[in-house]
Amino acid sequence: MPSAYALHLIERLSALLRSEVRRTAALEGLEPVHVVALWYLSRSNSFSDNPLAVGAFLGLTKGNMSQRLNVLEAKGFLAKGVDKEDRRRVHLSLTPSGKAALGRLYPPASWINGASPELEQGLENALQSIIAAHGGKSFGICRTCRFHDSRASGGFCQLLQIPLSAKQAGQICQEHQAREVHPS
Ligand code: SF4
Repeated sequence: MPSAYALHLIERLSALLRSEVRRTAALEGLEPVHVVALWYLSRSNSFSDNPLAVGAFLGLTKGNMSQRLNVLEAKGFLAKGVDKEDRRRVHLSLTPSGKAALGRLYPPASWINGASPELEQGLENALQSIIAAHGGKSFGICRTCRFHDSRASGGFCQLLQIPLSAKQAGQICQEHQAREVHPS
């Protein structure tokens, strides 16, 4: 059982990260939510790179999200593409300027230098337990999903019945459902 100090550390890290993103976003006339939307879209898979999914990830209404996405599009950071099989579906992707902007605006992984892989797994378990306890939406990395069947080539999605590449296995999916977490 972790101590209350663990909660304090998570709170401090979150506050520092929020403050850093607020600072960098302001330099480019953006709000932190724009930066997190770019971050999400740089990591989401093709089932999750649409305006509704970004809004659900950020907890924003459709109208609110669409205003934020329009700003990013006007800045040339985002491009809209239409699905090849279903023309009603939209896919959002970062343009080369969007990728460069994200590199300037969001701290790199080395920002938490010193954190171990065990810490990452522990935080993942804690997050999934809290989401499950509160009935929230999971939004996790594909390879941690209960439908992910690991294979040498990357994996197979048992929910959508499709093969997954190694890249997709590391992406965020809105259909993600956490595996059962057993407290240690
Ligand atoms: S295995 Fe889960 S996370 Fe991965 S594509 Fe399928 S539903 Fe999404």
